[in-house]
Amino acid sequence: MEMNSASTEVQEPPGTGAPPPPWEGLPLEKWNDWRWQLANRLNTVEELGQVIRLSPDEVEGLSAAGHFRVDITPYFGSLIDPDDPGCPIRRQVLPTGRERVPFVAEMADSLAEDAHSPVPGLVHRYPDRVLMLVTTQCASYCRYCTRSRIVGDPAAQFSRKDYDAQIRYIAGNPQVRDVLLSGGDPLILPQRLLEDLLQRLRAIPHVEVLRIGSRVPVFLPQRITADLVDMLRRFHPLWMNVHFNHPKEFTPAVEVALARLADAGIPLGCQSVLLAGVNDCPNVMKDLVHKLVRNRVRPYYIYQCDLVHGAGHFRTPVAVGLQIIESLRGHTSGFAVPTYVIDAPRGGGKVPIMPNYLLSQSADRVVIRNYEGFISAYTQPEIYDRHDPARCVSCQRREADVTAEEQEGVAALLSGDQLAIVPEGFEVAHQRLTRIRWAPIKAALAPAAESDEP
Ligand SMILES: *Cc1c(COP(=O)(O)O)cnc(C)c1O
Repeated sequence: MEMNSASTEVQEPPGTGAPPPPWEGLPLEKWNDWRWQLANRLNTVEELGQVIRLSPDEVEGLSAAGHFRVDITPYFGSLIDPDDPGCPIRRQVLPTGRERVPFVAEMADSLAEDAHSPVPGLVHRYPDRVLMLVTTQCASYCRYCTRSRIVGDPAAQFSRKDYDAQIRYIAGNPQVRDVLLSGGDPLILPQRLLEDLLQRLRAIPHVEVLRIGSRVPVFLPQRITADLVDMLRRFHPLWMNVHFNHPKEFTPAVEVALARLADAGIPLGCQSVLLAGVNDCPNVMKDLVHKLVRNRVRPYYIYQCDLVHGAGHFRTPVAVGLQIIESLRGHTSGFAVPTYVIDAPRGGGKVPIMPNYLLSQSADRVVIRNYEGFISAYTQPEIYDRHDPARCVSCQRREADVTAEEQEGVAALLSGDQLAIVPEGFEVAHQRLTRIRWAPIKAALAPAAESDEP
């Protein structure tokens, strides 16, 4: 297939011959220059009105005081259907009046990231990996941004001192083996600065894997130059998660950008967000995951839309996500099926949600069903020679490692390291139960002596 012939040999994104309207007059080199794209982003009613026919709702959204930042690269803007207010590309980046409507349960920081930040911009929620926010800027801004509380604000930038503190924290915490650079979009940083950060992280012996989360390959594929990729590949193992939501986001320029990253040995994953009116459809999602895997991107997560201010009208019932997974698992390649997750409010982290495939069980058998509804019994072994930790190299190494974290969570209950996970205030609540609920009952049932009193 011609699409897969793209490789690092292609030096620049293939031109279409001329930039799309209304930029026809522009030299093609300019259109393909990521600096030009960034410098000429669309953000006003006037600029956007020259590219698309704005609806009254969009004019209202763009004119509202204090709205979350709008900036759309001309390239991404050119993918918008100028006449269709429901265009899935358009819905992701153009505000409407609806984003100012508050909804039940909305929050500014629904994932409680700020509360999990030991130093500014570093979110340490899981034992062995950290999220490092390196910038608040993006190539374009998604209307449903989970970090709209900080992203896009030109005044809220990370300083040299913040980076130093982030890196010092990681260096001082040997359990951190995976550092995820995000933001904002790390690929928007000046290349030297990004290179410097990667270099300093790579120099920390216990940091095994570096990851970058970026939407630049979607919003600004021109930025994925041979030079940038040559820099990135020096920091392997370096993984990258990109963010596609709709098959319309694939263009020849995007396919070249992805091929360059993949050819540089960067394993690519995709994190999509389930969005009403954009991709809340099993067929759209199937087309999307097929486009992804043809471009060597593994669908990694589909996120349930966060409870963040401005995103209310994008939210779907969880059933929509379940139906999408049901329509993918078994129906297409296993590696094309992402994990559907809810990023739990208050900082619970990502929780996978999936249809039930385990229907029932006895001591001897489990009953399972497949994607077709075929139900069968799997007979469990009568004799199981249990895993013997004393003869297991990994178990022994862990036992000997004094710096290793204790087993946590439900895994600790299964391993026998812990007997219960007790919710906060459990003891108090049970005392209160005794006092408040039982005391009056006891009193009522008890001694006639009491009723004798005057
Ligand atoms: C998503 C996330 C990670 C990475 O999670 P994975 O499931 O390993 O991809 C790490 N830290 C934070 C705070 C996150 O939100």
